[in-house]
Amino acid sequence: MKNNKMLLSRETMNLDFVRKVENLSGSSVRRCFQCGKCSAGCPMRSFMEHPPNRIVRLLQLGQYERVLAGRSIWYCASCETCSTRCPNKVDLAAIMDALRKCAWDAQGPSKESRVQLANRLFIENIRTYGRQYEMRLAAVFNVKSGQLLKDLMLGPKLITRGKLKMFHRKNDNVAEIDQIFARIEAMRRKGEAE
Ligand code: SF4
Ligand code: SF4
Repeated sequence: MKNNKMLLSRETMNLDFVRKVENLSGSSVRRCFQCGKCSAGCPMRSFMEHPPNRIVRLLQLGQYERVLAGRSIWYCASCETCSTRCPNKVDLAAIMDALRKCAWDAQGPSKESRVQLANRLFIENIRTYGRQYEMRLAAVFNVKSGQLLKDLMLGPKLITRGKLKMFHRKNDNVAEIDQIFARIEAMRRKGEAE
């Protein structure tokens, strides 16, 4: 029978990675005392192989590779329920954000590459249009993910109900928004931002 026991020791812990996540997120990972309130309120819990409190525990135990390789961080909806519920002020939503960045930097596209693709297209739309352009997001996502007909029949219903617009107007301040992206990229190149 497979032995799934975890060893907890100075050797198995990876404090460097914990510190990196703490720096990126601005939140303590080590402060969590595993009360489970975050997971009890998480709306995406049923889609995750590791619930939010276990993500923190795995980090504390030095099992960060399991966290980065899994799907939980990509199914987090950044709703911040966990951060609001935590009695110990652990900002788990920010930690999830930091972990997505670490996963992206470490291994590029993962087995959850479609979620990553959706994230990337979402950001590209914000930069190009200054706001979200749902029709383009859905169309480009379908093409790039190789699922041309995905949810096609939903389109007309959403358009009829005014939830999806055929055409889109750019935000008047799109040039300023682009400058924000450019500034962040320049800071990253200089090592002043992650
Ligand atoms: S609610 Fe806070 S202290 Fe409790 S398990 Fe979640 S992160 Fe840890
Ligand atoms: S921010 Fe993510 S992990 Fe936290 S409750 Fe929302 S979906 Fe769950």
